[in-house]
Amino acid sequence: MSLQNPVFIPGPTNMPESLRRACDLPTIDHRSDAFPGILSAARMGVRDVIRSKTAEVFIFPSTGTGGWETAIANTLSPGDTVLAVRNGMFSHKWIDMCQRFGLSVEFANVPWGEGFPSDWAEEQLAADTNHRIKAVLVTHNETATGVTSDVSAVRRALNAADHPALLFVDGVSSIGSMDFRFDDWGVDVAVTGSQKGFMLPAGLGIAAFSAKALTATETAGLPRTYFDIRDMRTGYEAGGYPYTPSVGMLNGLKEACAMLKAEGLDAVFARHQRIADGVRAAVHAWGLEPCAMRPELYSNSVTAIRTPDGFDATKIVSHAQSVYGVSFGGGLGDVAGKVFRIGHLGSLTDVMALSGIATAEMTMVDLGLDITLGSGVAAAQESYRNSAAPLAMAAE
Ligand SMILES: *Cc1c(COP(=O)(O)O)cnc(C)c1O
Repeated sequence: MSLQNPVFIPGPTNMPESLRRACDLPTIDHRSDAFPGILSAARMGVRDVIRSKTAEVFIFPSTGTGGWETAIANTLSPGDTVLAVRNGMFSHKWIDMCQRFGLSVEFANVPWGEGFPSDWAEEQLAADTNHRIKAVLVTHNETATGVTSDVSAVRRALNAADHPALLFVDGVSSIGSMDFRFDDWGVDVAVTGSQKGFMLPAGLGIAAFSAKALTATETAGLPRTYFDIRDMRTGYEAGGYPYTPSVGMLNGLKEACAMLKAEGLDAVFARHQRIADGVRAAVHAWGLEPCAMRPELYSNSVTAIRTPDGFDATKIVSHAQSVYGVSFGGGLGDVAGKVFRIGHLGSLTDVMALSGIATAEMTMVDLGLDITLGSGVAAAQESYRNSAAPLAMAAE
């Protein structure tokens, strides 16, 4: 393992030096007047990143998984029905969490590589005239397969069926790297963590609630303690926490939001689009295919790449790690051994991406795959030459 090489796993992502420094604070008394300014800037910063004017943002010492639990435990009651789609490991785990909470999950099992079928959801919602379904769960970016689903289409399905269910969106691997429109899409709870688009260490679970989701918390019957947003709200009103916050991480989050804002959200998302286009150009030049089944599903934060039948893709991950000191993501669940993943979210430039592409290429050639050295790099170079944009993050 090299500490100098960038990582190409889809989280945790590479940390800019300025954010590492922002997390490194002396002990600050979270009950002193030094803390409320950090907290409110972090909460407002997240709200800006998800393009909301009204969402209430809750930040727990936790990870994205704690964000899932926050969404569920605060808004639903035992026996409630939720609608979901299983199209990868993360959507699968969120469904599993709902089941362990005693919820009834109606879900579509679609092939891994597919997106969220909003037509199917609309049929289910329209048929649910008694409004048994209390929430619809969408994984915006399925990190296991590199598939981005259309959240606005799910909102349209809810509206077309005139259905009052809450819309929960897992934005763990999209928020901060891909466009996310909390208000425009009518999202009720958005979930993320600190170690992906926010370029920080793992350690924060983030959940943004709409006014409608906040109302649901008043009657929700699931047991909750640590993730109870009622306690968190009481704490926030007094400028603090119901327990000890991770002050350094919150300061890092405040700086991460400022950094994204300084580059400009549109520029950040365009950078990820550009970098992803180059990675995909390389994949096609290698004669391989993304796991995502159609171009409109391609994720701008992670690409899962199908390897030839009979080849064990986990060898790519272990070889790149041991020989070149570079980390890629392996295949999970249904696609274990069939894909490897290049994470390209967070703090990344075209030049960094080229090093990952070159390393993947050397690794595949070492392992005997029929790939020409330089082919993917050249395709990505063409892509980047033709779309180069001055980087606001150049100082990093
Ligand atoms: C990483 C990830 C999670 C899990 O988040 P943790 O921070 O590891 O708990 C959930 N959903 C998606 C889409 C992810 O990429």
